[in-house]
Amino acid sequence: MKEHRIDGIVITHPERVVYPDDDITKQDIADYYAAVMDWFLAGVSQRPTSVLRYPEGIGEKGFFQKHPIRGLQHTEHVRLREESGELDDYICPRSAASIIELVQFGAIEFHPWAARADSLDEADYLVFDLDPAPGLGWSEVVEAARLVKSRLAELALQSFVRTTGGKGLHVVVPLHSSCGWDVAKRFAQGFAHRLEEAQPHAFVAHASRSEREGKIFIDYLRNSRGATSVASYSLRARTGATVAMPLRWTELGKCQGAQDFTIRTARRRLAGLRSSPWEGFDTLRQSLHEALPAVDT
Ligand code: ATP
Ligand code: MN
Repeated sequence: MKEHRIDGIVITHPERVVYPDDDITKQDIADYYAAVMDWFLAGVSQRPTSVLRYPEGIGEKGFFQKHPIRGLQHTEHVRLREESGELDDYICPRSAASIIELVQFGAIEFHPWAARADSLDEADYLVFDLDPAPGLGWSEVVEAARLVKSRLAELALQSFVRTTGGKGLHVVVPLHSSCGWDVAKRFAQGFAHRLEEAQPHAFVAHASRSEREGKIFIDYLRNSRGATSVASYSLRARTGATVAMPLRWTELGKCQGAQDFTIRTARRRLAGLRSSPWEGFDTLRQSLHEALPAVDT
């Protein structure tokens, strides 16, 4: 059999169908990540990262994995103290070879912490995860994201948007001065509660499912130590092989939904981009310390 090798990693069972409805193979997944690697790697490199693995394809059992897999040779581990107080090793990709190796081990989705391995007690971005209740349309999710953006802007915070590859959107706020998790969490919670107070018919900020009907759930709990969100450019293990795609705010109105960006279409978009849709994300100097009092309770 011909050997399939990417970034020095041998892909075994390259012909295995991982997305049965879409006829997408393990080789297709490795090729996708290899093609978008520079864009993708920037969001996961040197961060503790959980992977969602489906070794037998998405029609079979899948599982999140945060601890290192025996046999990994190109993926660093970071030893960290968990909330329980225990020390444990976490998967921490560092290179293209790490990513392809994890794909070889069945990883499809990548979910990093909002903190770097060398600074685990500080968030370097916030994620507001907007989850629409069943029955809400895409246009309502878009409207919700724009409202979150403008309320953040009132607090002098610039934000960025991405499709998740699923039903909602993520609004992401880069932070580039040290922000402990206590401040990140307090701000995110206060902001979500203020939003619910201002727009009680549109938003719900607490978890009880029964109260979410017809509303957008603004999940602020992504902003605590150890929580993860899907990485930009990660594939999703969902029918259609969608990709979590960063957009310019000006592109959001043209987007019809998560299905606009898939393993088959994302590469073409990236090849045509002259600059990152999240231009400025890495260099913005934003802090929550001035904004916190406005939302804190
Ligand atoms: P959607 O737009 O469909 O909501 P999403 O990526 O926001 O897509 P959610 O179900 O809202 O999906 O989950 C938000 C995040 O929570 C995920 O991106 C993931 O990082 C994290 N998460 C969810 N379930 C788990 C789990 N079992 N283990 C680890 N992380 C999880
Ligand atoms: Mn979500």
